[in-house]
This record gives sequence, structure tokens and C-alpha cells, in this order.
Amino acid sequence: MYEAVIGLEIHSQLLTETKLFCRCSTRYDSPPNTNICPVCLGLPGALPVMNRQAAHYAVLAAMSLNLSINQRSYFARKNYFYPDLPKGYQITQYEVPVSRKGYIDINGKRIGIDRIHIEEDAGKSIHMENPPQTKVDFNRSGIPLIEIVTEPDIETPEEAVDFLHILRLTLMYIGVSDGNMEEGSLRCDGNISVRKKGDPLPDYKVEIKNLNSFRFLAKALEYEFHQQVRMMENGITIESCTKLWDTKENVTRLMRRKEEEFDYRYFPEPDLGALDISDDDIQHWKTELPELPQQKRARFEQCFDMDAKAASFYMFNPGIANFFEASALVTDNHKKIDSWLRTELMRVLKEENKTLSDLSFTPDLLAQLIHMVETDEITGKIAKEIFRDVLDGKSPKDIVAEKGIQKMDNRDEIERMLLELIETSPKEVDKYRSGHKKMAAYFVGRIMAQTKGQANPKIINELIQKHLDE
Ligand SMILES: [Zn+2]
Repeated sequence: MYEAVIGLEIHSQLLTETKLFCRCSTRYDSPPNTNICPVCLGLPGALPVMNRQAAHYAVLAAMSLNLSINQRSYFARKNYFYPDLPKGYQITQYEVPVSRKGYIDINGKRIGIDRIHIEEDAGKSIHMENPPQTKVDFNRSGIPLIEIVTEPDIETPEEAVDFLHILRLTLMYIGVSDGNMEEGSLRCDGNISVRKKGDPLPDYKVEIKNLNSFRFLAKALEYEFHQQVRMMENGITIESCTKLWDTKENVTRLMRRKEEEFDYRYFPEPDLGALDISDDDIQHWKTELPELPQQKRARFEQCFDMDAKAASFYMFNPGIANFFEASALVTDNHKKIDSWLRTELMRVLKEENKTLSDLSFTPDLLAQLIHMVETDEITGKIAKEIFRDVLDGKSPKDIVAEKGIQKMDNRDEIERMLLELIETSPKEVDKYRSGHKKMAAYFVGRIMAQTKGQANPKIINELIQKHLDE
């Protein structure tokens, strides 16, 4: 049996207002080449000045992922030529990064993180087709990134996906990243090699660049795993190389072989001093760490008696989790809160492509709605019908009064309808009387339809028993 040995490298933009070594804005949607200056254009003589906020965010990320902080770390130049890298080098951290050795525990398994370091982003080449030309936008040049490098502890593509989910959520929870993979503010490379179970670590690895969605990450690793197993079974030696994931053909494609890898000629950045993090910084920043994703999931499971699937939903949707908790303060029917939020609310959000903050929904309104159903003021069906209006901030009591909807408790009226129905449904009546008690649902359904859901199902059932069970 073969098993995969997988490691990930994740680049995440930090949510600072300004770039890593200059005061230019980091806005994503600015017109090309408007957030630039001599520093991020790499003009001769321009000098970088460290943005402390970026260091702060990098340390928060490191602490949330259990890394040790290097209180004195250094910057280095990584030299290579590319049109979107105007200086001819990238400023990064090499020998002594800001943090080393941490981990995330996933499903009881520990996945090691070797390092998190700070570096600057490059510009962006935009390839045009008609006429064929390449333009460069330097707005991204100098935006602060952290690079997170895992140990090769991941064994399956699913585990890689789970890890990336928790990592991304963690960075979002602590407020240092927007986690947006589509816009490229979070980017993932994967490396994978294959060994027979129990063998030592393989002496090669295949790196796959730009796996910028969870789906691509899973598919590319899956494909590459089977590819490598086939090669091993055919006695072919696998060599280290860098590949790209072809999203159209669903295959990995060779980008460069090992001998074509760049020699980056790293050396210490002479224009920047050491990056110092004081004891006070660490003390202070530690207090800023919020509850982390997996802690939230565990707490929701325990405090609200949820299964893992429900609790995971709230872990992935912290805004809705906050709404849940605020609702739980005003009504203790947790099961109902959960079902309204996870089923009805999510359906509307999906259908209308909205987020919770686009609506005027409040925990009080939800509690009111739940209470009205609990006290039989309205049926569950009516509650669902008026739910959309409640999301716009209308009180369910007002809607019910306005629309004249109230549960029909008029026993005589329901009884008249039922007798009429019994008259016109001899077959169903016979069936019921011959022991098919489930036929009651037929009568309830017909009367509910006739009253547009306003009849009280309790009364209908009582009346069915009275007239058909005798
Ligand atoms: Zn600049």
C-alpha cells in the first residue's frame, strides 16, 4: 500500500491599510498603478521602512497557530528576475523568520507548521490577448504577506483540505486576513511525494503551484498521488519538479525541473534593521486573540447540545454563530433557533445572494417568532410564510395582525369542514376505520389546504378521533 506525504505552503495577504515598506494603500479595487511610490516601484535610492502593523498581524497569526516567536528576526533579499518584480529581488525572511514550529490539531491528529515568515508581494502581470501583450500593475507590489509552511505531516488530500479550512478560518477569526482565495489574498501551493507505508520520507517532492480553491487543492493532490503510484509501480524514478494544475484538463503539467530551479542567492537585506518584538508586545497581543474556530465548534457542541455537523456550520459562519448566541439569550429553544438559522435563513441568503448583515433580522424577532409557534398563536407553516418579512425587520406580531392571519381555533368551523370531508371521502374513511390510522394525515392535509394552513392541527386531530374512532 502506498501513502502520500503532503506539505502545504500558504501565502496570505495581511489586512493592513498600507504596504509593508511604504505608505501606499493596499486597496484591492484601485485603478492599476495608482497605489505606487518609489519604494514599492524599487526605484534606485528609495529606502524601505517596516510597517509595525504587519509585524503585529504576523505575530498574531503565529500565536494563534501555536508557533514560537523569534523576538529578533531578520529580512533577506531573494534575488530573481521577473517583470512584475521591479527591484530584481523580493524582501523576505530567510534564516531567522519571525516564528518557528507550531501546529494545528485536526480530528485528533497534529499537523506541524515549520515556520511563518513575513515577506512582500510582487506586482501583477496581466496578459492580454488582443493584441497580445502583457501589462504590469504594481498596486500589489509591496503588499505584506505571511508565508506559512507546514511539515510534511499531511497524508491525504482530504486532510490537506481540512487543514487549509481551519488555517483560513483562523486567520479570518483573528482579523489578519480576509481569506479571499478568488481575489488571491490567500494562495496555496502543495507538495506531494509517495512512499510505501512504513518507508522513510521520500527523497523527492513534486510541488504544485497556485491551488487557489479547495476543489483544485483536492483534485490536484489526488491526481498527482495516483500518477506517482503508477510511476512507482512501473519502476520509474520520480524526480523533484514544479508543476501547475491545469484547471481545464484536470491534470498537473510540468513547469520546471529541479535543475531549472532558481538559485535565489539569499543575503541579508542591508536597508532594514532587525525586526524586534518586545515582551510587552507579546503580552499585549496575546490578549487580542479571540476564540479560535475549533474552540468555537467544541463549545457549540457542548453548550448547545449540537452534533458535529451543526457545530461545524457555526464554526464556518461566525456571523451567524454570533446571531445564534444572541438569540439563545432571549429564548432557550436552541433546537428551533438552529433550525431557523441553518435551514430557513440560509435558504433565503442563498436564493437572494445576500449576507446576514444585508437584512434587518434581529435575535428578538426570531425569539418572538419561535414563541408564537410554541404558544400555538400561529402554525409552523404560517411562521415560515411570514419569515421573509421578519427578515426585513418586521415584527411577526405586526405581520400577523396586518395580514389578518391567525390560527383558526374555531372548533365549530373546523368540525363542519371535517364532516363535509368525511361525507365526500368514503374510501379514505373506510381505510382509516379498517385500522390505517395513518390516514389521519390525509384529513389533516385537506383541511390545512382548505384553510391555507391556518387551522390548528391539534383541533383537527381531536375531531378526527371524535368522528372516526367511535
Ligand atoms: Zn509604495
